[in-house]
Amino acid sequence: MIKVLIAEDNAVNRELLRELLEARGYTVVEACDGQEALHLIEQAQPDILLLDIGMPVLDGFAVVRKIRENPRLATLPVLAVTAYAMQGDREKILNSGFDGYLSKPISAVALAEQLEPLLSKRPGRSAAPNQSYESQASEKTRAASVMLDGGTNLE
Ligand code: MN
Repeated sequence: MIKVLIAEDNAVNRELLRELLEARGYTVVEACDGQEALHLIEQAQPDILLLDIGMPVLDGFAVVRKIRENPRLATLPVLAVTAYAMQGDREKILNSGFDGYLSKPISAVALAEQLEPLLSKRPGRSAAPNQSYESQASEKTRAASVMLDGGTNLE
């Protein structure tokens, strides 16, 4: 069972991501800020982290820096999840220790495209989802993904 840690301060976004991931057969753990994320990485031992950039206590950049500095955690795949859309931000993110980048609003297809190659690189693991994303995701999830968070950059 592949375990995904979602670190995101917005409850609506957390719920959407959880629904998308659970529909794919992943186990989901949630953190509401960067400090809690670091705690849960140690405690829950996720296979991958979806990390919001704009969060209280510790933002995504601070969290990924701490992960890369810690020899026990350094190889954890980390995907940035953010509404940062300006020119240069993608490069900044990819130069900061993240393995990839997901733009809000999150699309089910983009999520799968980013997650699966990272998970399949892990030894002894299978990233193969048990069924098609689209066939399992609920109408509610798909509607939510269209409406989600087009506004504030730091959500
Ligand atoms: Mn946020």
